[in-house]
Amino acid sequence: MSDLAGRQVTVAGLGVSGVPAARALRGLGASVTVVNGSDGAPQRAQAAELEPLGITVRLGDEATLPEGTELVVTTPGWKPTSPLFLAAAEAGVPVWGDVELAWRLRGPDAPPWLAVTGTNGKTTTVRMLAAILEAAGLRTAAVGNIGVSLLDIVLGDEPYDVLAVELSSYQLHWAPSLRAHSGAVLNLAPDHLDWHGSMAAYAADKGRIYEGNQVACVYNVADPATEDLVRAADVEEGCRAIGFTLGTPGPSQLGVVENILVDRAFVANRQQQAQELAEVSDVNPPAPHNIANALAAAALARSFGVPPAAVRDGLRAFRPDPHRVEHVADVGGVAYVDDSKATNTHAAEASLGAYEHIVWIAGGLAKGATFDELVLTAAKRLRGVVLIGADRALIREALARHAADVPVVDLDRTDTGAMAAAVREAARLARPGDTVLMAPACASMDMFTNYNERGDAFAAAVQDLASGRGPDE
Ligand code: ADP
Repeated sequence: MSDLAGRQVTVAGLGVSGVPAARALRGLGASVTVVNGSDGAPQRAQAAELEPLGITVRLGDEATLPEGTELVVTTPGWKPTSPLFLAAAEAGVPVWGDVELAWRLRGPDAPPWLAVTGTNGKTTTVRMLAAILEAAGLRTAAVGNIGVSLLDIVLGDEPYDVLAVELSSYQLHWAPSLRAHSGAVLNLAPDHLDWHGSMAAYAADKGRIYEGNQVACVYNVADPATEDLVRAADVEEGCRAIGFTLGTPGPSQLGVVENILVDRAFVANRQQQAQELAEVSDVNPPAPHNIANALAAAALARSFGVPPAAVRDGLRAFRPDPHRVEHVADVGGVAYVDDSKATNTHAAEASLGAYEHIVWIAGGLAKGATFDELVLTAAKRLRGVVLIGADRALIREALARHAADVPVVDLDRTDTGAMAAAVREAARLARPGDTVLMAPACASMDMFTNYNERGDAFAAAVQDLASGRGPDE
């Protein structure tokens, strides 16, 4: 079904992805109905925007499949068990996500996709990959879950040689016919289990990124579950499993030897043992988890024939997005680092592992996580801990169990001003040479609109500290 003109399409959900999908489908000549459970003022405003285009919007009932529906296009918030999808399955109606739609609608000369998924590091890796591809002189863009709609790219006029595509587990779940040039699963840790139902289902959805890969399935040697997914995938003949490791690489792997990123997978000729790509210091920041991201990006780029010098130049040109292990300032010999994007324990573990002596600012919404493992791995590095946010008691209890000698300041606050107070407390605990690391291991929505706002609050408090004003509460 690649020609949607005249087809009856139901879009599941309004919002940031439903509205553009409905518009695009209408633009292709489909007869479009959007269904949405809530019927509040924002939804009515969106309906008023769509209806003049000839799109039907049904508010207040998200369970019944509209009569005559031939295709359902879903937005990410909808769980696979939603009654609408069960009704669609019963009626033999396919359900596509935005990625499936984009994949199906791409033109005959469409650029290949280099695709990235994983629990953490997706955005960083995709941006590194785009920087490397650009350094190789290729026309490319970082797209997908990163915030740039694949549908816009596919239906737009801009020509591309290759796309660097970030895919979430939700998107992969609903993208059954996607076939990437090469795909990577960076790592796997429990996340979004409420949506997928189980860890096995979450992993299987991530693993879809390898299905039908043409050249390489890139996996993380340190995370054997990612290699298991490669084995389970049905790929094109000749497609290779390529590992990345922070250690010395084996054949068909990229890794690190004496602070140099090296490639043993895509060497120019058989006599050559390894191809040097870049120095560890070319990676920004050169923390272990980020070197892993750089190796994954390099593997995907090399699978597309990008030369080693472009890997180096791209990594040097890459600048991390804000709030991802971002160095904010040094004050009194103490480094202040914003890792507000560490919204789960797996992410926080990575940044906590990158510094020796840490005053850790943590807490927020735990999303059902437990903190014992994280506290156990980080305990030796902790100079002190400052806790904020709704679920801070969970972290406090884990600290009491596994790091009883580490001083803990429990601010017992969830107001936005708490971040400034936390920075002040952290400054008191820190000694010169230490790092104050805000890596909350929790979501931010109990105190802030999102992780950006939380990171900005931290940075503002640090700037106040640096200017000697002392943070305001
Ligand atoms: P995603 O797009 O998957 O959310 P980001 O690149 O935005 O990933 O990074 C989110 C956070 O995850 C970072 O702030 C950092 O704390 C952590 N992180 C980044 N890369 C990795 C990795 N390879 N392994 C574990 N944690 C990581």
